[in-house]
Amino acid sequence: MKKTFCLFYFLCLSLNASMPSQKVDAIVLGGGSAGLTSAIYLGRAGFSTLVLEGPVSGGAITQSNAVYNWPGYKETSGSDLTEHMQAQAKSSGAVLSKEIAIEVNLTERPFSIIAQDVYDTSKKRKILADVCIVTLGASANKLEIPGEAAYWSKGVYTCAVCDGSLYKDKVVAVVGGGDASLLEADYLAGLAKKVYILNRKDTFKGVDKTRRERILALPNVQVIYDVKIKEIKGDGASVESLHLVSKENKDSILPVDALFLAIGATPNTHIFAKQLELDSHGYITLKKGTETSIPGVFAAGDVADPIFKQAIIASGEGAKAALQASDYLRLASLKKSEPVAITKIESKEPKILKAIEVSSLSQLKEIVSSSKGVVLIDFYATWCGPCKYLGQFTDGWAQELQGKATLCKVNVDLARELAIRYKVQSMPTVVVLSPDGQEVARKIGVEEIMQYVNRLKN
Ligand SMILES: Cc1cc2nc3c(=O)[nH]c(=O)nc-3n(C[C@H](O)[C@H](O)[C@H](O)COP(=O)(O)OP(=O)(O)OC[C@H]3O[C@@H](n4cnc5c(N)ncnc54)[C@H](O)[C@@H]3O)c2cc1C
Repeated sequence: MKKTFCLFYFLCLSLNASMPSQKVDAIVLGGGSAGLTSAIYLGRAGFSTLVLEGPVSGGAITQSNAVYNWPGYKETSGSDLTEHMQAQAKSSGAVLSKEIAIEVNLTERPFSIIAQDVYDTSKKRKILADVCIVTLGASANKLEIPGEAAYWSKGVYTCAVCDGSLYKDKVVAVVGGGDASLLEADYLAGLAKKVYILNRKDTFKGVDKTRRERILALPNVQVIYDVKIKEIKGDGASVESLHLVSKENKDSILPVDALFLAIGATPNTHIFAKQLELDSHGYITLKKGTETSIPGVFAAGDVADPIFKQAIIASGEGAKAALQASDYLRLASLKKSEPVAITKIESKEPKILKAIEVSSLSQLKEIVSSSKGVVLIDFYATWCGPCKYLGQFTDGWAQELQGKATLCKVNVDLARELAIRYKVQSMPTVVVLSPDGQEVARKIGVEEIMQYVNRLKN
């Protein structure tokens, strides 16, 4: 089919006089495996397609450094896989934009979506679309106990594959009583000195027997059954112990260096409350194929899948959703003939300049002593999806902050000495040093780091 790129950009008066607005054939909410696959199909079919990537560009699979079950690859990393998908979606004609859907109205036609820049919450616009494909995934559940927020990313994590390597030869705990807790423990057992699995029941739910027996037989894995975590304790910078309560209400303290949560996930469907039909756990209910309760709205991937939660399945469903959406557009004669181009948030496009790769303490000391302003050290790992995302910008920042700051980057797997010296516990972390080598700030996670650098620029 002939490829058309639609676009028109005008000021919309219907919702908010000051908010820019844009009309597209198809909007895909979410930039994970499901969303990117939908975008490939819709773009190739010639529909103007805008993907709102949301907070995690590439989706949940970017947290995996080794994917063994993607057909065609014996082994690949989640971030490599999604980079290829993103490139393919773009070359198919879809536009990927770093925006979050914060409000949807599926009761009017075309559907309207309020999108907000991921890093600048004041930047909003309205998108109008004839079809909407929902692929927002599901977020890891939290314990909601004291200490969890204080030590989030400083010893409390939801992904062993992402953060486990920081706890080599340390003592860690995994909380959960299902398949996920065993898988996390299995991975951590290869790194940590000791792995506790904290299960609030006396058995594991829905776990393959052979797998359970193999993991529980590992010499450094120990299960504590019938136990709940009351509090996560630490020294303010790192986790030191867990306050546990047994079934008999007995308190105990378990010394650990980190806690990994594996207590299920909640689908990201709150923005659809009272608009789309959801099941009792909040997953989108599907009718025929990927159709939802509203004609023209389709859903795919983990957001509508309480069971399988696999990238290949999300992609398969994403392809189905795109094919059903294409049919819907053609049958409803909603496909526009005039070419339209899609805008996206351009302000975040990276500049390709240079940050200094630092591999030793002596090299860093030299840089600090010759630096005119502060020194920003970006601690990253090649297998960390958010680090990869941030890595696009560091070279540009090196140029933009010239005179104010020197940009360095440290691969924690190659320069462990530096990661240990600066007590890096989560990635990405940016440590800021004054010209005399004193730490003056520490920012963790993409959002905090981007906000800090933006403040520094102004
Ligand atoms: C550590 C880990 C390892 C895994 N390993 C494997 C594996 O080896 N093999 C495998 O097949 N599967 C694996 N999975 C599962 C796989 O990652 C998921 O099944 C798959 O990513 C689901 O894809 P999805 O597109 O449905 O959702 P996601 O990948 O979760 O994508 C959701 C997207 O929605 C976006 N979003 C969220 N809210 C908004 C909003 N309001 N507006 C706009 N966008 C929004 C997010 O930014 C994200 O881009 C793993 C998962 C994890 C966490």
